[in-house]
Amino acid sequence: MLKIGCHLSISKGFKAIGKEALKIQANTFQFFTRNPRGSKAKAIDPKDAEALLMLMNEKQFAPILAHAPYTLNACSPEEKTREFAVQVMADDMVRMEYLPNNLYNFHPGTHGGQGSEEGIRQIIVQLNTLLKPEQTTTVLLETMSGKGTEVGRTFEELRQILDGVILSEKMGVCLDTCHIYDAGYDIVNDLDGVLDHFDQIIGLERLYAIHLNDSMNQKGSHKDRHAKIGEGSIGLKAITEIINHPKLRHLPFFLETPNDVSGYAQEIALLRGAYDK
Ligand code: FE
Ligand code: FE
Ligand code: ZN
Repeated sequence: MLKIGCHLSISKGFKAIGKEALKIQANTFQFFTRNPRGSKAKAIDPKDAEALLMLMNEKQFAPILAHAPYTLNACSPEEKTREFAVQVMADDMVRMEYLPNNLYNFHPGTHGGQGSEEGIRQIIVQLNTLLKPEQTTTVLLETMSGKGTEVGRTFEELRQILDGVILSEKMGVCLDTCHIYDAGYDIVNDLDGVLDHFDQIIGLERLYAIHLNDSMNQKGSHKDRHAKIGEGSIGLKAITEIINHPKLRHLPFFLETPNDVSGYAQEIALLRGAYDK
């Protein structure tokens, strides 16, 4: 069974989002831990979290994926911004334990002219302050398109971060199809080659989730504009190969395409139909 979901809003609470996912034939979902631009997070209602866990168990959900706010920057040249990032992420880690054994994804950051080496060093410092041996959450680095001074534009950069983290077993990678295509990885004509390269540099066992997006731009554009499935430069044929690939097909796929909930429902139906039984 294809594990697929989309980005949904948690404004109505955890159980409500689980039910919304079921309504659109999803068996997982992604959500922002707090306003994607702000820092204020709603207090967690433990009963609501428990209700979601029961629903997920009953309906055999795949792990769910929390996404850190976009504004977090663990490698900002500003010390205050870095401190803020580590505070917010530490708070998110505590909150994630109400939903144990799930996934938390973040953008490694933008180095703002310090250079990627220094950026990577700072991200490692932050993760080493943040991760706790007792946590059950796996923290994922997202592959980035390389716009501006983004860190994480190559598999090698992500590998360097993983290598520096002491509790490395708490870390993994979330591969965003739009981002890696925009970063220059040819998943349209050479998916096998890209996955072999990922395996050599990072290791496929570190891959926990896929952000499944088409791209509005061309390979190597370093742009990062998501398109609806089948309406971008990656296209439905390549996306069908991605969800069916023997090295990927067991993973949870998360749509972050420009859609409302009914548009997501249509894409989920389309992809379920394209998944080999
Ligand atoms: Fe993201
Ligand atoms: Fe993404
Ligand atoms: Zn993106």
